[in-house]
Amino acid sequence: MPEKIDIHGVKLDNVTMDEALDIVLQMLNENTPHKIFTPNAEIIMQAQRDESLKQLLNSADLLVADGAGVVLASMILGRRLKEKVSGVDLVKRLLINTDRRMTSFFILGGKPGVAEQASINILSEFPRANVVGFQNGYFTEEECPDIIRQINASKAEVLLVGLGAPKQEKWIDAHIHELKCKVVMGVGGTIDVLAGTASLAPEFMRKAGLEWLYRLIKEPYRYKRMMDLPRFMNLTFKTRFRKGKQA
Ligand code: UDP
Repeated sequence: MPEKIDIHGVKLDNVTMDEALDIVLQMLNENTPHKIFTPNAEIIMQAQRDESLKQLLNSADLLVADGAGVVLASMILGRRLKEKVSGVDLVKRLLINTDRRMTSFFILGGKPGVAEQASINILSEFPRANVVGFQNGYFTEEECPDIIRQINASKAEVLLVGLGAPKQEKWIDAHIHELKCKVVMGVGGTIDVLAGTASLAPEFMRKAGLEWLYRLIKEPYRYKRMMDLPRFMNLTFKTRFRKGKQA
């Protein structure tokens, strides 16, 4: 069991990308469904205002830090996370690993046509990644039982759920017990990246921890939500200061 690092009540697994991949591969050898969430600073901030979201995140079988901001916060708080393990990178590593272990996937999320395009791209780039089904992320509650039947009938081992956060985490938590997949992972905008409808920040920006800036330039309408980033850093410094005073 990896060590947990507490960032404002959200208890993240302190793992490297390689260790996270090993844990996912281990989950694929077991027969029960496992939940994987990859919270970023925005979601950790939302969890400060919503205790049930915090509990839901903490109920994950693997909870990894998506974003340089979360790793930076861990350093400020005095127990450093080994590294950033973003959802999109973990999914890519899992796809690359299909070379060694064939794995089946169901892709759920994104606008109509996006999950289908992601599936086509995966199948052409990773011949041993078996995409056994896809479904767009705009469905009603009434359509849910049918979608779950489709997912289970596909016998997918891995279900990638990209409905945006925290909708995807809530959906996974509500339906995990009906699902027969071994790994169910909240992946945010990863399906758009796999489909080629969204792009990742250039490498130098990702390395510098500036994905948020890239996202703000690309999707300026997100600025309101992104106000949680300075709030997150503010809370981090306040917590550090309080701890310093107590010590
Ligand atoms: N999305 C979806 N269903 C919804 C809302 C969003 O499938 O009801 C998809 C959206 O098309 C996008 C992904 O969820 O592919 C991520 O959405 P967003 O960028 O809003 O969320 P975040 O990046 O914060 O996870």
